[in-house]
Amino acid sequence: MQTNFSAAQLADPHVAESEKILRKCVHCGFCTATCPTYVTLGNELDSPRGRIYLIKDMLENGRPADKEIVTHIDRCLSCLACMTTCPSGVNYMHLVDHARAHIQATYKRPLLDRLTRAMLAFVLPYPSRFRAALKLAGLGRPLIGLFEKLPALRPVAAMLKLAPASIPSASPMAKPGTHAGQGTNKRGRVAILTGCAQSVLDPAINETTISLLTRLGVEVVVPEGEGCCGALVHHMGREDQALASARRNVDAWTRAIEKGGLDAIVITASGCGTTIKDYGFMLRLDPAYAEKAARVSALAKDVTEYLGGLDLPEPVRRPGTVVAYHSACSMQHGQKITRQPKELLAKAGFVVREPREAHLCCGSAGTYNILQPDISARLRDRKVKNIEATGAAIVATGNIGCITQIASAAKLPVVHTVKLLDWAYGGPKPEGVADSG
Ligand code: SF4
Ligand code: SF4
Repeated sequence: MQTNFSAAQLADPHVAESEKILRKCVHCGFCTATCPTYVTLGNELDSPRGRIYLIKDMLENGRPADKEIVTHIDRCLSCLACMTTCPSGVNYMHLVDHARAHIQATYKRPLLDRLTRAMLAFVLPYPSRFRAALKLAGLGRPLIGLFEKLPALRPVAAMLKLAPASIPSASPMAKPGTHAGQGTNKRGRVAILTGCAQSVLDPAINETTISLLTRLGVEVVVPEGEGCCGALVHHMGREDQALASARRNVDAWTRAIEKGGLDAIVITASGCGTTIKDYGFMLRLDPAYAEKAARVSALAKDVTEYLGGLDLPEPVRRPGTVVAYHSACSMQHGQKITRQPKELLAKAGFVVREPREAHLCCGSAGTYNILQPDISARLRDRKVKNIEATGAAIVATGNIGCITQIASAAKLPVVHTVKLLDWAYGGPKPEGVADSG
């Protein structure tokens, strides 16, 4: 695509990067067919190609964001299905990240929207605040019906609906420390991301991961000082907050690398993994962090990616259960991890089925199911229908957002992939799961 940026505009490295991306797009439109918002809404402006034109126009003319572009960029899930489909290698992720930061800097949203976003950015990345907010949500639940009738308060209704009725206790294993690998066959040393929302909603995911990895002979370090990866605020265009999270984590993992070396930084939420693998890019302009961030990104691995690289023994039991594997967008499109989770489950004795339209997002997408509840619910219902049509007894997936989203409508138990693997390799049976199905 031809672009018309001035030399002065291209002196801004963010604009220069976006210009490179825009020039790669050949307007072929292949990406529209796999874009969940285009498939759902049928509007070219809610397709990747339409958004690319809108972003190009905004950046080229150096103008502030307006209501139209904000509407269509807000509807984008950042699922990155368009990047998987694009034959020209257009890096839509970096382009839309730039557009979101530009929107945040130049557009004044309506008051309630601003307040909702500020509240999400203040609460979600901090486990203690998130835990307190979930407790308060119980008080607000009787008002869901009322909030749903008022369009400006629908995000609040969506939040209350997603809040679980009970919250598990904080995990002692999330505290900084080292969990030694068991046995004589030492396989490596990794750090694990404790993260934010997942550690509150389902701390058993990381407990199970630590238990499985240490049983396999891997030493697992929970580094002092790590926290939210920054993805939630990054997708809201809050660049300073996202970069501060990235720097804090880079510091924490760099200390762990310098103290005893790391073979990997293991991540159990694929949404976080996509962002951490992008730290090298996000911090490329910061001379104090660029190199360290690139090293961290190179070490980041989804837990299934890491397990896939180990020579696993035969499982202790072969459950034989039929599992529908839901590949999170951040897993399949963001990190291009498509094979390992299914192969690991099959090797562990599960019968793996893949739902139809597996490339389409479930509508979770970070805070999307709160900020865009209508489109999110349509995508969720479509996903659940496809999952239930597989006839599986369990849904396995590798991202807490998808677990919460799909579980809010599915009749089947939805569990993290690592819990099923842990069960097959001698751990306890995950809650709500029958022996076979
Ligand atoms: S990221 Fe997803 S929703 Fe956004 S344009 Fe690409 S395919 Fe569509
Ligand atoms: S598939 Fe790629 S090149 Fe074609 S319109 Fe979409 S982004 Fe542009």
